[in-house]
Amino acid sequence: AHTAHDPHCIFCKITAGQIPSRKVYEDDELFAFHDINPAAPVHFLIVPKKHMLSLAHVTPADEALLGRIMVLAPKLALEQGCNPYPDGGFRTVVNTGTEGGQEVHHLHVHVLGGPRPWKRG
Ligand code: 5GP
Ligand code: ZN
Repeated sequence: AHTAHDPHCIFCKITAGQIPSRKVYEDDELFAFHDINPAAPVHFLIVPKKHMLSLAHVTPADEALLGRIMVLAPKLALEQGCNPYPDGGFRTVVNTGTEGGQEVHHLHVHVLGGPRPWKRG
């Protein structure tokens, strides 16, 4: 389930620079980019560079990586213009599987924020 790079995966292509995106952040393990169809004034996605299908596929070996995503989220949210806690803030969403609303099968954390009302949610 965990190959480094899936040549058919759109998010693997984005992290590899094979499909353009509006990059928010990059390091050895993680990549963040603006959602192409934003549901809020701020809407970006944080993904591991390693191809992981979903949150249903993670193992204890992924604990540090997932922790890094969650520590990065509030930092990037502020950098991208989300207002500070508690009056501002942001929403983090991980859709998993069909009934969970997952459309792209490469694990990603949505970060949504900014003044309401939002387009969705
Ligand atoms: P999911 O429903 O899988 O949680 O969310 C997938 C998200 O990826 C959607 O919000 C969608 O707009 C976004 N998305 C899909 N394809 C692309 C793309 O090619 N580029 C970017 N930047 N976002 C994409
Ligand atoms: Zn992938």
